[in-house]
Amino acid sequence: MTNGACYPEVGPLAAHPRGSLLIRSVRPYGEGAPVNVLIEDGRIVNMSAPADQTADNVLDAAGGVLLPGLVDMHVHLREPGREDTETIATGARAASRGGFTAVFTMANTTPVTDQPIIAEGVWAKGQKLNLCDVHPVGAITKGLEGASLTEFGMMARSQARVRMFSDDGVCVDNPLIMRRALEYARGCDVLIAQHAEDARLVAGGCAHEGPMAGRLGLPGRPRTAEEAIVIRDALLARDFGNRLHICHVSSAGTVELLRFAHAQKIPVTSEVTPHHLLLTDEPLDRFDGALRVNPPLREASDAEALCQALLDGDIDCVATDHAPHGAEEKCCDFEHALPGMLGLETSLAIIARLFVEPGLADWRFVARVMSERPAEIVRLPGQGRPLAVGEPANLAVIDPDSPWTVQPDQLASKSKNTPFAGMTFNARVTATVLRGKVTHRLGNDS
Ligand SMILES: [Zn+2]
Repeated sequence: MTNGACYPEVGPLAAHPRGSLLIRSVRPYGEGAPVNVLIEDGRIVNMSAPADQTADNVLDAAGGVLLPGLVDMHVHLREPGREDTETIATGARAASRGGFTAVFTMANTTPVTDQPIIAEGVWAKGQKLNLCDVHPVGAITKGLEGASLTEFGMMARSQARVRMFSDDGVCVDNPLIMRRALEYARGCDVLIAQHAEDARLVAGGCAHEGPMAGRLGLPGRPRTAEEAIVIRDALLARDFGNRLHICHVSSAGTVELLRFAHAQKIPVTSEVTPHHLLLTDEPLDRFDGALRVNPPLREASDAEALCQALLDGDIDCVATDHAPHGAEEKCCDFEHALPGMLGLETSLAIIARLFVEPGLADWRFVARVMSERPAEIVRLPGQGRPLAVGEPANLAVIDPDSPWTVQPDQLASKSKNTPFAGMTFNARVTATVLRGKVTHRLGNDS
């Protein structure tokens, strides 16, 4: 079953306490007058409960916006292996604070998530914490070495029910390996997600190859490196394949290629990060390691094209690419800072600023690009569902007008490498609910 009437086809879920929760005074999708939403045993049972409704727990949303719980297809929680920078516990806490009820954590751990037992360990830890469903992404190739495929079928059938495979962090460069991966994935009906950067074209580069990097003398990573892989893989998906997902689209040219692929009915989906939508390479002259990321921040014309593509649906969804790094890995010179930045606790606020606040889109758009589409792409039951009676109570409550400033030391994430430090945003996630359990309540987090 893949409809919202049950929660099958995910690994064993932690037992949830039975009982009721009343979310008082909340506006589904930010529309209409506030209503009271009653949840029983993990499901929405009444979307217009009376004001004097009693419940085991009450959450006063003060007229805030109610959205389906957010789903992030792309995070790095660093466990196993780099628990000094993030753990499943700190990452899941950051996710719940950001409004997320499900995240997909990439396979570039140590050891690499290329076997069922490693994936099962990640899934079980997430369920024990019960803050957010933490789905492990399986590696496409053993050890992320790009040479031989992992056992997709065994990981898909494991208790972790791995449904997405990616070598993210590195590109699957070899076209024959990519072809075989797409063919294998078709048989198991799993998703292949590509980190599209041709390794030879980006070798040694640390910044977008453009006028700014030229002026600063930084070695470049050209748009071509991304675009060449995107079109190659789209053609492989057309002729051999299955569904293909492009991670963190960063260039205006890639948007054109996605339009071409969609016009040919090639089953390609894609994601964009909040940082590629909001930031450009302009502030690189500060040489701030927090701005180092792969693919790199590009020019204003790229960011504009990405925003428009998300509005038009050419890019399907937002994913954070939340990538914690220790301070010592980020404070060295720009060229040697490790690529990646935090994203889980700031993404909703950034999307609201870029699209809702200027009136370019409404909260239904946010629900689509941050919850419904990612859940559909990964075929994840029970998440990204409509706000309706009978649906699982995976929810996020947002105060759209509660200005707050990003202070790294107040983030739940174990690392502090955010390029948004000191920036003030209006929208804030005030509560998150996972199958009826409150996993985040602003001001009340432990
Ligand atoms: Zn990546």
